[in-house]
Amino acid sequence: MFFRRAREDRALREAQRAGHEALPRFQATQAWLGFPKPTAPAPTEEEVVAPDFLPPDLRVPSRQEVAGLMMRWLQPLVIGGEVRTCPGCGAYRDWIVFCMRDDSIWLRCRAGHDTKEPGLDAAWYNRNSGPVDRFHPTPEEGLRHLGH
Ligand SMILES: [Zn+2]
Repeated sequence: MFFRRAREDRALREAQRAGHEALPRFQATQAWLGFPKPTAPAPTEEEVVAPDFLPPDLRVPSRQEVAGLMMRWLQPLVIGGEVRTCPGCGAYRDWIVFCMRDDSIWLRCRAGHDTKEPGLDAAWYNRNSGPVDRFHPTPEEGLRHLGH
């Protein structure tokens, strides 16, 4: 009698454990099979919807309103296992990286050579850039602000 109870209890515990383990596996399977992976990156802090009550010069423009985004990239830029060098002067670090409205990426070296970089895209830019905190009316002002 004692042994039978013990076996039943163990069977119940095992069933419960199996049930608890089966649920996350099931959900994970459903997530992969039932829902396509999102193709667009989730909205980031960059896409700020400006409140209407702010004066226009305090508003942060949305991605659709600006010609492009830019950031400074001081370290060597490794793309596909290779360090990018400027075709104009051979520079390999201290880039300004532009992400244009058409999602193309351009690299600008210290000497001002602009090179389109097909190995990078807007998703890469979004992963590697911080939130947009400043709006420059011209690219030149942006470059000055970033130290170029
Ligand atoms: Zn250059």
